[in-house]
Amino acid sequence: MRDDNCIFCKIANGDIPSATLYEDEDFRVILDLNPAAKGHALILPKQHAANLFELPEEVAAKAMKVAKKVGTVLAEGLSCDGLNVLQNNGEPAGQTVFHFHMHLIPRWKGDVKKIHMTWEPGTLTAEDKEEILGLFH
Ligand code: 5GP
Ligand code: ZN
Repeated sequence: MRDDNCIFCKIANGDIPSATLYEDEDFRVILDLNPAAKGHALILPKQHAANLFELPEEVAAKAMKVAKKVGTVLAEGLSCDGLNVLQNNGEPAGQTVFHFHMHLIPRWKGDVKKIHMTWEPGTLTAEDKEEILGLFH
């Protein structure tokens, strides 16, 4: 349920104080200590799961409801122009804390100079398309 060596387990369960925006039986939403933007928040499940793959399906579904609820208050309250919902799994994907979390990042026009979430668009090859469709059919 909890991992004694996990900082987000301690924060989510209130063992370490945090700037809490929202809390319910399953989640705590806190302000990020090193925000990408004003209002950058993290949705933490109270139950430990390292990533999306370990997260129980019902907790994953509830996490999106919390994202909508808290994201809406942030967006309306801060009058931002957009909001990223970001979730990293594994080091190559940018995960640095190995307790599942979702980022809510308010965005303002022109902030792309400071916040980079872009990639060089590739081309979907016939080979890749066949291979990936084959995983599902
Ligand atoms: P990741 O890179 O794993 O997707 O995101 C980890 C996030 O957690 C980063 O944005 C980082 O600033 C934030 N973070 C790391 N340690 C703490 C902490 O102790 N408290 C808070 N509030 N945020 C943290
Ligand atoms: Zn944890």
